[in-house]
Amino acid sequence: MDEKECIIPENKFDALKYDYPISVPDLGSGGKTNEWRLERPIIDNEKCIKCLICWIDCPEGTITRKDDDTVEVNYEYCKGCGICANECPTKAIKMQKEE
Ligand code: SF4
Ligand code: SF4
Repeated sequence: MDEKECIIPENKFDALKYDYPISVPDLGSGGKTNEWRLERPIIDNEKCIKCLICWIDCPEGTITRKDDDTVEVNYEYCKGCGICANECPTKAIKMQKEE
């Protein structure tokens, strides 16, 4: 496994300064998580101000930062913990029960 420099920001509002989120998804022992997730985060791009707080805070690194700083959830690995929805300053992320 490659060693990566630890880049935990002193202030999460500095998220725009960083090139990588705090963690990144990996296969783990059980592989992808989408089948057992209870809730999924839904992003409302109309409310998103591109602050990237969700991107830097997601403990699974499953939020992708796109070239224009909009964000997208990788539902193959998202565990539905709700941290992104809780931390979003504009409430642009809502948790929705899985069917
Ligand atoms: S935390 Fe909310 S406003 Fe900030 S990038 Fe994520 S969805 Fe957009
Ligand atoms: S619900 Fe949790 S795992 Fe899924 S994108 Fe949000 S912070 Fe990441």
